[in-house]
Amino acid sequence: MRVAFLGPPGAGKGTQARDLAQEWGALHLATGDMLREAVAAGSTLGREAKSYMDKGALVPDDVIIRMMAERLGAADAGRGFILDGFPRTIAQAEALARLLKDLGQTVDTVVYFDVSEPELLRRLTGRRVCRTCGHSYHVTSNPPKRAGVCDACGGELYQRDDDGEATVRNRLEVYRRQTAPLLDYYRQRNLLVTVSGEGPVVTIRDAIRSAVGAVR
Ligand code: AMP
Repeated sequence: MRVAFLGPPGAGKGTQARDLAQEWGALHLATGDMLREAVAAGSTLGREAKSYMDKGALVPDDVIIRMMAERLGAADAGRGFILDGFPRTIAQAEALARLLKDLGQTVDTVVYFDVSEPELLRRLTGRRVCRTCGHSYHVTSNPPKRAGVCDACGGELYQRDDDGEATVRNRLEVYRRQTAPLLDYYRQRNLLVTVSGEGPVVTIRDAIRSAVGAVR
């Protein structure tokens, strides 16, 4: 299983990728998570990426491509993966195709999560994330049982620095300008399938399973 999840921030890619990667025995490769880990660790990569992330801008292609070349080249990537938040530009999509070709692989399917803009704004500005396991909540529509505490692992919930309203608006604009052109790119290559990213999490998960031919 080698698939990429494509869609605006707040579309639910991470939530679905986390569950389905486990179900499929595939890796969940989320560039945003990898970058946040690098920032927390204070590494060179983290220091380079932080100023872009704080503004809601994209980290430069060469930095992302280098990071993903290393990750996809590692032995465990051979068992399949779900790419979450990568590629985000045409240059990244072309680099991905080249990287996989060198490894004798291709992307099987690109799943586009379709969600309206008002819903994205509502989800992102109310999102709270577990520092320990990465599980996402929403302050009103999916609150944890105890405020500030993860139901799944007891970890601390926090609001991402880039989930404030001004930064969210910028991230959505960046998506429209730089990432949305990938829809046509993958449509032309017959790799794109669209699922509605609105509605119950389990319904969306079923739609993804059938879209990628992993119906159980
Ligand atoms: P995410 O968790 O996917 O919303 O990503 C958070 C932030 O990390 C984005 O707003 C970007 O600054 C950066 N980022 C994540 N993935 C990429 C990517 N593929 N290309 C460039 N920047 C990225």
